[in-house]
Amino acid sequence: MCSVNDDGYEDGEQFMPKTEIAVTEAAICKKCANNKGNVILRGKDVYCKVCFLASSTHKFRATLGKSKIVRPTDSILIAHSGKAGSTALLHLIKAGMHESVHKRLIFKTTVLHIDEGAVNGETLEERKSRINAICEQTQNLEFQGYITSLDQSISESEPNIHTMESLEICSHGDKMLTDLLNTLSNYTTKQELLHKLRQRLFVLVAKKLGCNKVFVDGSAVVIHGDCCKSKSSALRVRISTFIS
Ligand SMILES: [Zn+2]
Repeated sequence: MCSVNDDGYEDGEQFMPKTEIAVTEAAICKKCANNKGNVILRGKDVYCKVCFLASSTHKFRATLGKSKIVRPTDSILIAHSGKAGSTALLHLIKAGMHESVHKRLIFKTTVLHIDEGAVNGETLEERKSRINAICEQTQNLEFQGYITSLDQSISESEPNIHTMESLEICSHGDKMLTDLLNTLSNYTTKQELLHKLRQRLFVLVAKKLGCNKVFVDGSAVVIHGDCCKSKSSALRVRISTFIS
């Protein structure tokens, strides 16, 4: 799996203590008992890359299945920030859709990227380059994708959204958004406001696109609803339901 932003921290990740356990040369995957180990889980179980990805996909699909939250008739908006967590989420959903018939994930998916370039102080060129990479990644995974910008959360009208193919950047509302954020001097208060703006925009766009649920990776914002957590996986998926 690759991330558009490999060097970027997930929210708060830089403050987490790092524990690294070296995979020794002699470590062999406990699953296939053949390949050299690449990953250690629970501090002792060695997996090769192939077995780790197969196991993660299985657990992800099984967790969704057991929760009974997702139905085949659902239309789900998947939030894609471009960070590693949401990139992993896209790969897991894609892999789950290619399982054998009885195990396959069946629901309609639409990917949404919220451009927060104005908040992050990026130039238009930097925003274009980042969005281009996110669009390419989404299209390579064969998802239908849309882009919107965070200022649309405070727009009085329906949010403007563009297909990823258009690669269009909306910068008209940048000033209004940054002016609003600049009224807050406290970092935590700003983060709380950003959280609420994203939350509101996910719901607005989902309703506009006819989606009845939103998937947000564990490192991003949460709307409300249930949390599916695979016991042995670090990946959390928040599922927000707002069937009206
Ligand atoms: Zn293996």
